[in-house]
Amino acid sequence: MTRQQLLDNISKVLARVSRAAQNSGRNPGDVTLLAVSKTRPAQDIRDAAALGLKQFGENYLQEALEKIRALDDLQLGWHFIGPIQSNKTRAIAEHFDWVHSVDRLKIARRLSEQRPSSLPPLQVCLQVNISGEDSKSGLQSTELPALAAEVDSLPGLQLRGLMAIPAASDDSASQHRAFCQLRNAMTALAMPQLDTLSMGMSGDLEAAIAEGATIVRVGTDIFGARG
Ligand SMILES: *Cc1c(COP(=O)(O)O)cnc(C)c1O
Repeated sequence: MTRQQLLDNISKVLARVSRAAQNSGRNPGDVTLLAVSKTRPAQDIRDAAALGLKQFGENYLQEALEKIRALDDLQLGWHFIGPIQSNKTRAIAEHFDWVHSVDRLKIARRLSEQRPSSLPPLQVCLQVNISGEDSKSGLQSTELPALAAEVDSLPGLQLRGLMAIPAASDDSASQHRAFCQLRNAMTALAMPQLDTLSMGMSGDLEAAIAEGATIVRVGTDIFGARG
């Protein structure tokens, strides 16, 4: 990926985000573009940062830790967005700012206990498996109120909202339906401190923003197709 290609891609994605926000009467500044940099070399992230992106999402811990170390001179925000095994929680708690993929209490407790007290609380979204989703990650909506209450009480974590990865669909109506479900699930929690809906990727960010996304997670349309 040349810097020029990267610049073109980022400009296009930012324009899509702005247009989608404006079309639904929202302020484009209320939607954060999270650049999903899994499988990309540290240099691509450095280039993207030079072009103004500051928040990066990673799925694979080992790879992420190397990049976080290599880019330590930049003030970047790091978001863990992949499945979490218990033996990975300590490094996640020590090296990330956000985790979008918390889906069970055991993991939340470990992240809270292992969050260094020198750092601000880890910013957390609960990953919900909304209907029709083929992925095995994410909790069921019925389990959400109990887990949200528990996580909200953990001192090392700050519960910010919900995340989902709906099954990919080309059909705008079904994209909207899935994202609307996540928004309704957050409204139903009636926890006014929650301000984050992490939803929408390269193929469906417009629908997500129309339904209230505050963070869109975009990989392919920024960095190109993954190999
Ligand atoms: C890979 C990934 C993305 C980015 O998907 P693209 O289609 O490449 O934009 C977003 N969210 C999660 C959780 C991912 O794993």
